Amino acid sequence: MKKVIAIDGPSGAGKSTIAREVAKTLGFLYLDTGALYRAIGYYFFKKYSNCNVSAITDQEIEEQLKQINIEYEDGRVFLSRKDISTEIRAPEIGYITSVLSAKKVVRDFLLPVQRRFAEKYDIVAEGRDMTTVVFPDAWKKFYLDASAKIRAIRRFEQLKISNINTTFEEALQDVMNRDIRDSSRENAPLTRTKDAFYIDTSNRSKEEVISIILKKVAEDD
Ligand code: C5P
Repeated sequence: MKKVIAIDGPSGAGKSTIAREVAKTLGFLYLDTGALYRAIGYYFFKKYSNCNVSAITDQEIEEQLKQINIEYEDGRVFLSRKDISTEIRAPEIGYITSVLSAKKVVRDFLLPVQRRFAEKYDIVAEGRDMTTVVFPDAWKKFYLDASAKIRAIRRFEQLKISNINTTFEEALQDVMNRDIRDSSRENAPLTRTKDAFYIDTSNRSKEEVISIILKKVAEDD
């Protein structure tokens, strides 16, 4: 395994922006594992449209996963060669993704996919279970956090930029619902571990957080 900087934290803690910048500065590959989960969510959303996704059996999910072709390059994600990087950010995809990602069959499918990146490249990997399940022996581990209100403001701003129609209340509800689902699930729940360096990003600028991480990375090696 090459060098892995593993970053976990709840939705809207600033992981993507920060991980991307840290990777760029260090010349590492940026791995947005949420985008991989979202690509699966998008696939099922398109395939089953209005169907209640929690009603699909694990066997059916497993069959479908065999046919999925997901590729990831430089922060962009492709489904059967189509760039779906913008579409996967829609709130309804976030919802279906967090329901599907609680399933063992989905996590088992993505586990080797994620680890394969670290066989070839030094990476900055961000998600919910980077420090605990996917890369428990990571070179460096971080946990980014922020208050639910701040995270909802960030999410709302992000969606506005992407021209996705939503209100602040919806963004806040989405953040809180996702917190509950991601932290309370049985399979690879979001957990803050003792060996991950904790950073509260609520009142810190992006630059400050990046600088804390880079300092920590350079510190003890
Ligand atoms: O990080 P992002 O918000 O894009 O992730 C979307 C959803 O994918 C999360 O709410 C979570 O349910 C799931 N996810 C996960 N494990 C990861 C990354 C994302 O379960 N490592």
